[in-house]
Amino acid sequence: MARLYVLGGNGWVPSPKRSTNCYALETRRSLILFDCGVGVSRLSDPMMRLVLERVPRVIVLLSHYHHDHIEGLHMLPHFLRDHEVTIAGPGVLVTGFDCAAVLARFGSSPLLPQPITAWGETFRKGFSIVELREGRNKIAGETIEVVRQPHSDPSVGFRVRDVAYVTDTVVRAETATFAKGASVLVHDAWLDADDEALGHADLRRHGTAHGAAAIAKEAGVSELVLGHLNPSYDEPRLERMLISACDVFPNTRLANDFTVVEVRSKDDEDLPGGAAPEGPIATETGGL
Ligand SMILES: [Zn+2]
Ligand SMILES: [Zn+2]
Repeated sequence: MARLYVLGGNGWVPSPKRSTNCYALETRRSLILFDCGVGVSRLSDPMMRLVLERVPRVIVLLSHYHHDHIEGLHMLPHFLRDHEVTIAGPGVLVTGFDCAAVLARFGSSPLLPQPITAWGETFRKGFSIVELREGRNKIAGETIEVVRQPHSDPSVGFRVRDVAYVTDTVVRAETATFAKGASVLVHDAWLDADDEALGHADLRRHGTAHGAAAIAKEAGVSELVLGHLNPSYDEPRLERMLISACDVFPNTRLANDFTVVEVRSKDDEDLPGGAAPEGPIATETGGL
């Protein structure tokens, strides 16, 4: 059993219910963060502090380098100084430069006084930056499957254990293959059926809620989480998006922060900490 915590369910801009992109997968050995938007600040929550006490290592996986996926990186030293930390991103695969070079551009003076590439002394148990390649990557005993995806700047999707994390990309058949048999699919749901009917320009870079549900059904996953939600849409509209997805794939929920999802796996041991706590648990263009 592993456990997935939604820490930031929005794209682009935080809203009262949702910070920007960050999800935490707790396994016996590690906490694996999918993206590092402002949602990483949710690690200050008492529930997440307990999780951090249980794992010695944190692996931060970056899907791409748009701000809503990396703007929490500077917070990592605050939360993780007692952990071994690895930041892993797809450099050459999506930018032509390696991950460390991209992070050096974003995370150095005058934007950040201590450059990310010089964080070796910051984390007591070690720090590394790892370049992700397409296909299977091994980091600290975890297998990370990576697939390149179309987006305004290309992104990558992740498959880690029985979680498929697919954001900042369009609805496409390849995702059903990539997520086949996973327990949980987190999928970009930036747009809705009205956007689709209007031929919204963002359809070239983002997904729809009902399209994500069709992928979840095709992939045979157990649960779908609609992520990268649109801060320009009010809660009633997001609820309608959820309903449209549930019509296609009933076991769907919105990525509301602090939602906890049990990740069922054939070959995993139980996690410490007992059962998961109950989680409170036309349009804009140009989303990141
Ligand atoms: Zn984004
Ligand atoms: Zn993006």
